[in-house]
Amino acid sequence: MFMRPTYLDSYEHGELNEKIDKLYSILESCELCPRKCRVDRLRGEKGTCRSGRNLIVSSFGPHFGEEDPLVGRGGSGTIFLTNCNLLCVYCQNYEISHLGLGTPVSGEEVADYMINLQKRGCHNINFVTPTHFTPQLVKAVEIAIPKGLHLPIVWNCGGYENVETIKLLDGIIDIYMPDIKYGSAGPAEKYSNAPDYFERCKEAVREMHRQVGDLTIEKGIATRGLLIRHLVLPNNVAESKTVLKFIAEEISKNTYINIMDQYRPVHRAYEYEELRRRPSFEEYGMVVDLAKELGLERGETFRHAFC
Ligand code: SF4
Repeated sequence: MFMRPTYLDSYEHGELNEKIDKLYSILESCELCPRKCRVDRLRGEKGTCRSGRNLIVSSFGPHFGEEDPLVGRGGSGTIFLTNCNLLCVYCQNYEISHLGLGTPVSGEEVADYMINLQKRGCHNINFVTPTHFTPQLVKAVEIAIPKGLHLPIVWNCGGYENVETIKLLDGIIDIYMPDIKYGSAGPAEKYSNAPDYFERCKEAVREMHRQVGDLTIEKGIATRGLLIRHLVLPNNVAESKTVLKFIAEEISKNTYINIMDQYRPVHRAYEYEELRRRPSFEEYGMVVDLAKELGLERGETFRHAFC
C-alpha cells in the first residue's frame, strides 16, 4: 500500500488543471524563477536558462546515489532536465546544465518515463533541476495520472526559486529537495551571477516547509516533506554557518539535511583560485560539527563513521 501523493487529490478536484494553466501563462513573459527574464517562451524566446517551450531531458533511470530515504531498495526514479536557471561557474553537472546535453521530448514521453520508473520499483519520481520547466513537468504529471502514476514527486532544485512559482506547486509536490548554496550575496553574485540567491532561496524554503513540513519517513522510505542539501565549498566560500543557522533557527532543527562533500573543481572553477581544490577533510568536518552545535543532526551526514 502506498501513501497517497498530494497531486491525486488536486487532479480529482480540478485544481491541477487550473494550476497548469496559471503556470503556462507565466511562460508568456517568463518569471518562473527570480531571473524574471520576461521572454515569451511559448513563442520560443529564451532567457538565461536557454529553454523555450519544449521539455529537454538528458537521461532518466533508477538512481542509487541519492539520499538513503529516497533510494530504499528500488532506487529514486530520476529524470534529469537539461539546462539550468542558475549556471554556477563550478557546476558539477555542467555538460547537462551549461552545455545543453539532452533531447527535446514531449510531456507524453516524460509521462511514460514516470510510469516506466514506477514499474521498475522506484520509490519516487525525482525531477533533477526542474525549475525552468515547471509548467511542462506538472503537465507531464497530469498526463501520467490516468496511466496509474502514484509515486510522490521529488522537486530536486537549485534553490534559486520564485516563491510565487513554489506557491503554485502546493498540492502537487510531496517532497522538496532544494540546495542552499550560499549564505550571502557576495559569493552568489561571483559564482552564480545571482546576488539575491540567499534571499530568494530563504523565501522559497520557508514556503516549501509550510507546505510539506519536516521529512516523513515510513519503513525507511521518504513519503513527504523537506530535505535540504548543502554543498561544502573550499575556503568557506559557501558561508556554511549562515546557511545552517537559517535552517536551524527559521525552518526546523528536525530538518533532514545532507551536507555534501563531493565538490570537485570542474568547468570554470579553475578561473577562481579559491575554488581550485576539493574541500579538506577538516573543512568538511567543521561544517558538520557546526550543524551539530546548532542542533541539526538529522540525515545520513550525521551517521557517517568520522562524525
Ligand atoms: S525560468 Fe529561464 S527564462 Fe524564466 S525567468 Fe528563469 S532563467 Fe529566465
